[in-house]
Amino acid sequence: MPKIQILDDTLINKIAAGEVVEKPASVVKELIENSIDAKATKITIEVNEGGKSLIRITDNGMGMDRYDAPLSIQRHATSKLKSTLDLFGINTLGFRGEALASIASVSRILLQTKTSSSDSGLLIEVDSGILKTEKEISCPNGTIIEICDLFFNVPARKKHLKTIQTEFKYILDIITRYALAYPNIHFKLFHNNNTILNSPSTSDLLNNIATIYGSSTAKSLLPVDFVKSDIKVNGYISEPYKSRSDKSMQSIYVNGRYINNDLITKAVYEAYETRLMVNKHPIFILNISIDPMIIDVNVHPQKTVIRIEKEDALFQAVLDAVKLSLDSTINVPEVKIKETNSRLVFDKEFKITKENQSFLKEKETITQDNVEKIKLIGKIKNTYYIAENKEGMLIIDQHAAHERVMYEKFLKQFKDNNIKLQELLKPIMLETTPAESIIIENNLGLLKSLGFNIESFGKNSFLLRTTPSILGKQLDKNILFEIIPQLESKTTKIDKIKQEKIIRSACRAAVKANDVVEVTQMIDILNDLQKLDNPFTCPHGRPTMVKYTLYELEKMFKRVV
Ligand code: ADP
Ligand code: MG
Repeated sequence: MPKIQILDDTLINKIAAGEVVEKPASVVKELIENSIDAKATKITIEVNEGGKSLIRITDNGMGMDRYDAPLSIQRHATSKLKSTLDLFGINTLGFRGEALASIASVSRILLQTKTSSSDSGLLIEVDSGILKTEKEISCPNGTIIEICDLFFNVPARKKHLKTIQTEFKYILDIITRYALAYPNIHFKLFHNNNTILNSPSTSDLLNNIATIYGSSTAKSLLPVDFVKSDIKVNGYISEPYKSRSDKSMQSIYVNGRYINNDLITKAVYEAYETRLMVNKHPIFILNISIDPMIIDVNVHPQKTVIRIEKEDALFQAVLDAVKLSLDSTINVPEVKIKETNSRLVFDKEFKITKENQSFLKEKETITQDNVEKIKLIGKIKNTYYIAENKEGMLIIDQHAAHERVMYEKFLKQFKDNNIKLQELLKPIMLETTPAESIIIENNLGLLKSLGFNIESFGKNSFLLRTTPSILGKQLDKNILFEIIPQLESKTTKIDKIKQEKIIRSACRAAVKANDVVEVTQMIDILNDLQKLDNPFTCPHGRPTMVKYTLYELEKMFKRVV
């Protein structure tokens, strides 16, 4: 008796729905994508009960004629692909032709649609994927699609839906992403008849961000506008000190498609480098245009993941784009303690424009002046220096400060191709595991460029002959063992980035090994620190110092109100 049988279409669609339609927000995503592909300029989304009972999307796009409309809910029915060749150069959001069929199989659908070239429209009713009604109606150009009772026939899925608020949050999130990427489209979202989002059409990306994220967020953003050969990157990013403690305001679009991509995200963080505080995350809204022939969007049924052919070039382009934008604005933050709790905030930032250049010069001289008058008062737990200047009290993390200064000096020597070496009187013997040996062998040149001259010395051992003098006289050889794993970075193959990273961790290790910072050394460090572009965080993003002004001290002791 044969056991294998071909599944019927209803069952096939239900299985596909398992991948495509995970939750109400997935339905919303697919339907918005269809409206965008249909060239709509206005898309209204109405949902009830987090999309569980109703999702209605109204668009003014090209609509469907009476032949296409019933086909649209069939599996493998699409107007977006004609041949296999089309699959390798997709410039529509949809192409798999399975979204409507999958959604239809797990809900009840009411579809009204009309093209501009026909006098009447068509109404279609579908229940669990089965066409129930089809009739001519009069309706405006475009498409209205209503999805009722999602998962009514898949109790297991329905049971696992989250609360109304959570499901709605997912819907709002996906609509926000698309509203950000398509400023020319007027998006409107209602939940249980309340207006939640309204972003009218505009040609200005920043205006659009302001309507969606608020104008104070929009004001803190820097433009990104970059082209390198066939890759274009544009959008907005946040200034480093305006970063957030979550990653919710990060969106990447490739050719208009909202995607999740670790590589691109990594490139953005890499560009911020040491400018971000620990546990802080930048805001970014980045549109990347790339030849559709070199990306593969057919990787995941929900189309949120893509594969890219020239990964390195893309990584580099995003990195350069964000760096360029950050470098064009130099920020001079002032550290201030807000209220009486010791939350650290940067409350003033200046963009270097002609108008305030003179102001900054003045500020600089004041700062220099303050350094000279900095008086170290004491030390707590061998970790924090307390100091005084005419503005108030400073608490300095000796290690963070030391690390920042050492990092900047080391980096400068490296960039100037001028790393100062110290020859070791007695070479240090390094005993390595076989895996470490391979890494060292493969990176002898890179290590040398950083001041570590290493020679092979038989099986699984090496001799270290020179070290960068900046790291101090009694260099701990463990520093090298902190560096070695970083030489095999999976996330970046670019030497320069690797080298900077290594410098960062070498400095950290050097400071850690060097437990106590003497007072005289601390004064030097403070002097050096004040000269840096970014004296307020260590290379790993921890603050180097906090300042309590006299006024703030007086407030704490309730001398003033
Ligand atoms: P895909 O988007 O991958 O083609 P779908 O199942 O999402 O597959 O949609 C099937 C087809 O139905 C589309 O190719 C398109 O021709 C048509 N369609 C769907 N939604 C709309 C809409 N809002 N306006 C016009 N045509 C639509
Ligand atoms: Mg689609």
